[in-house]
Amino acid sequence: MSADPVAIARDLLRCPSVTPAEGGALAFLEKTLKAADFTVHRMTFSEPGTDDVENLYARIGSAAPHLMFAGHTDVVPVGDEKDWAHPPFSGAVDNGRLYGRGAVDMKGGIACALAAALDHLSANGGKPKGSISFLITGDEEGIAVNGTPKLLQWAAARGEKFDHCILGEPSNQEELGDTIKIGRRGSLNGHLIVTGKQAHVAYPHRGDNPVRGLVALIAALQAEPLDAGSAQFSASHLEFTSVDVGNKTVNLIPGEARARFNIRFNDHHTLESLKALIERRATKAAGDKIKFAFKWEPSNAGVFVTKPGPFTETVASAIADVTGRKPELSTTGGTSDARFIRAFCPVVEFGLVGQTMHQVNECVPIADLRALTTIYRKIIDKHFA
Ligand SMILES: [Zn+2]
Repeated sequence: MSADPVAIARDLLRCPSVTPAEGGALAFLEKTLKAADFTVHRMTFSEPGTDDVENLYARIGSAAPHLMFAGHTDVVPVGDEKDWAHPPFSGAVDNGRLYGRGAVDMKGGIACALAAALDHLSANGGKPKGSISFLITGDEEGIAVNGTPKLLQWAAARGEKFDHCILGEPSNQEELGDTIKIGRRGSLNGHLIVTGKQAHVAYPHRGDNPVRGLVALIAALQAEPLDAGSAQFSASHLEFTSVDVGNKTVNLIPGEARARFNIRFNDHHTLESLKALIERRATKAAGDKIKFAFKWEPSNAGVFVTKPGPFTETVASAIADVTGRKPELSTTGGTSDARFIRAFCPVVEFGLVGQTMHQVNECVPIADLRALTTIYRKIIDKHFA
């Protein structure tokens, strides 16, 4: 008998696991994975000033190749429960859809991966030819400190080696199979601070107005594109988000002026090379006239891309077999835990359709749960073929 992704998804949806609560979701996975002979570890990670978060790592097999399914069982809050057509933790089925917070983001995706793995195992005498693992966190929708990064470090310290990872986030835009995410742009936040000299506006020669310098530098930093895009990415983009002087006095030249900006950048840059480029351009524009400094905010959102190759082709052909669609290999959108995983193995994101994620009445068509399970099953079979 094959595993039922709808039943698994319902059991998960009935667990109220709003970050950082475990809600019974990891306990359910532990029980189900142990019954299929996975070795299961449950870890709680802590950090001063943050909530403790529970996580799970489960593996079956000890040989290579090692395919890892990653994901999160935590969900965002439901908002006002009265707005939901079905209680958000009931796992109601209505008109061919399964409802509940996390239906697409991403308990449904985990249920499909689990059902596919169980099916693969029962068709192969209970053991994979290599290894299959599940790396599941309860801290993705929160600040992601006590989740995937620590889980990966813990696994690496035990000598775990991964060949490929599928992160089951809702990657599709409109229909199952339309999009695989193979990377994300990086994100960098900076402050530009121009220092001048205060003076009475009637005697400007006694001062040095930093607003002039700030305007000149803002113009210079926007004058030239950062690059022309790359094979997998659109052009990097710098956008000023705030300009602040905070001067309430009408007859005072301020002593300092600031601006804040964000850069979404592609694989022509690293965080460090990008900072150097911006500082170089500002230095050139400033000459010896404008006194300025940059303050960079810490970022763990570097750019990454899993280059198209045999692994992305395996995923794309499984999708085409089941849905008839040729998925777009996309690098758009915000960040996900893939930014941590990519340091350990190539990772692609493929899951359900994201349209109702984080919304009231989040739901998934039952047909999508079954189709995604078949896609994952084909990927597993091909991975170990
Ligand atoms: Zn998610």
